[in-house]
Amino acid sequence: MKKNIPLLRSWQTIAAAMLLILVTSARINAQNTLTKANIQKVLDDAYNKFKDLQEGKNADYIKELASVDPKIFGIALITTDGQVYTEGDIQSMVSIQSVSKVFTMAKEIEDLGPQAIQDKIGVDATGMRFNSIVAVELQKGKEINPLVNPGAIAASSLIAGADSAAKWKSIVDIQSAFAGRQLSLNWPVYVSEAGDNLRNQAIAHLLYAYGRMYFDPVQATDIYTKQCALNVSAKDLAEMAATLANGGVNPVTKKTVVSPKTVMYTLPVMATAGLYDDSGIWLFNSGLPAKSGVGGGLLAVCPGKFGIAVVSPPLDAAGNSVKAQKVIQYVVEQLQVNPYWVQPKQ
Ligand code: GLU
Repeated sequence: MKKNIPLLRSWQTIAAAMLLILVTSARINAQNTLTKANIQKVLDDAYNKFKDLQEGKNADYIKELASVDPKIFGIALITTDGQVYTEGDIQSMVSIQSVSKVFTMAKEIEDLGPQAIQDKIGVDATGMRFNSIVAVELQKGKEINPLVNPGAIAASSLIAGADSAAKWKSIVDIQSAFAGRQLSLNWPVYVSEAGDNLRNQAIAHLLYAYGRMYFDPVQATDIYTKQCALNVSAKDLAEMAATLANGGVNPVTKKTVVSPKTVMYTLPVMATAGLYDDSGIWLFNSGLPAKSGVGGGLLAVCPGKFGIAVVSPPLDAAGNSVKAQKVIQYVVEQLQVNPYWVQPKQ
């Protein structure tokens, strides 16, 4: 009997050690979802899971967008150490549309400081549709948010540059620096929207009447329309998101685009107003700051880890790409990267 006691003790020790190994390896596993093989597997799974989904419809209020191939479906994820993962069609280009608003806002936060953007444009979500005139009227041009049309047109008027050409250059330069390559204009989309953007022109003139435009309203609307017509692939958008995830340094080109402080002020506006009227639903389901555009692009930022983007033109009623939302939410869940998901300390 006496002999059994040390034996029992040694079994207890082994059992305790095994339990410790199990707990530790569970923790390591939880932190280790971002391995090369796992990231690629999760993107492949996401692509296969959602590729045949038929829901949604291309935007058609800009005529040219109605004829974009609805089957384009590309996914890209770029980590903050510059690894690029892709799946599906990352060659096809779509117009960046509202996704561009993030980067023009970031440039202005960088140049003028966060307080100036808060005072001159506003950063609260309007709670109304992206092209609401009522939102402008109710607030007398204040609190118009740079991620929806009124605030974005005001942002185009505020961007660095003495004339229209210089302002346009500032915009192309900043969007390109985030994307890591020189972006170019999709002329048919620009011409199509420029001939049909009376509502945006009305918004610009109303803002002008309230003293909330900082340049000629006709030219500012034109610059804004061009900005929305820049062509991007899923990989471009992922690189833009990855630059935000990496504190403002493009992890592929290694160039500093904006400061970490600018990123710190940019991400909360994305979190609260990045997906139109469904921004709250998006944040509830993914936990990530993101921005969508009516061209079918959607990017999301996982701070310190990666940027991810999906291009798929069919949109839901709120104006967000159906497949893109599903893919990114799936990836976030599989990689366990929702920043609000925390492992309790034992
Ligand atoms: N150029 C588009 C517009 O002004 C952008 C809309 C969007 O992507 O939200 O209507």
